[in-house]
Amino acid sequence: MAERTIVIIKPDGVKRGESVVRQIKQRYLEAGMRIIQEIDLQLDRHQIREFYKEHEGRSFFEDLVSAMTIGPCLVLVIEGEEAVEKVRAINGATDPAKAAPGTIRYDFRDAESGGPRNIVHGSNSSIAASREFLILVE
Ligand code: ATP
Ligand code: MG
Repeated sequence: MAERTIVIIKPDGVKRGESVVRQIKQRYLEAGMRIIQEIDLQLDRHQIREFYKEHEGRSFFEDLVSAMTIGPCLVLVIEGEEAVEKVRAINGATDPAKAAPGTIRYDFRDAESGGPRNIVHGSNSSIAASREFLILVE
């Protein structure tokens, strides 16, 4: 059954420019998924604190909040069979240095930045995607 997931092209990804953004979107389309909505958003710190609530208190949390609010994001609502798992596989491992070649996080990694600067977010379940959508578009 088709399901929906949320991708966020993070501020560091958007900043790389139109060509990189287009190539990222192309990866999901090539895997047979549909982009049913695209929203340009400047997120605020309150939204990101809520979005990443599960990580509150972790050493990287404040850096993550800053990285997500430093500029505009592009939110993609993606639909397709097994979209949650497919998107996470296409995105690659959380740490770009450990992600496999051919994944977005590896192919578009930025040698100078680690952890939070991994270009894209992908929901970890369709329930999480619904929750995230509400936080992002509130
Ligand atoms: P996302 O939820 O953004 O798709 P993920 O599910 O691969 O990523 P999570 O564990 O949910 O990873 O972490 C959320 C985000 O927090 C990561 O994308 C990354 O930006 C940041 N992050 C996670 N772990 C670390 C870490 N150890 N050091 C620095 N940043 C981290
Ligand atoms: Mg996650």
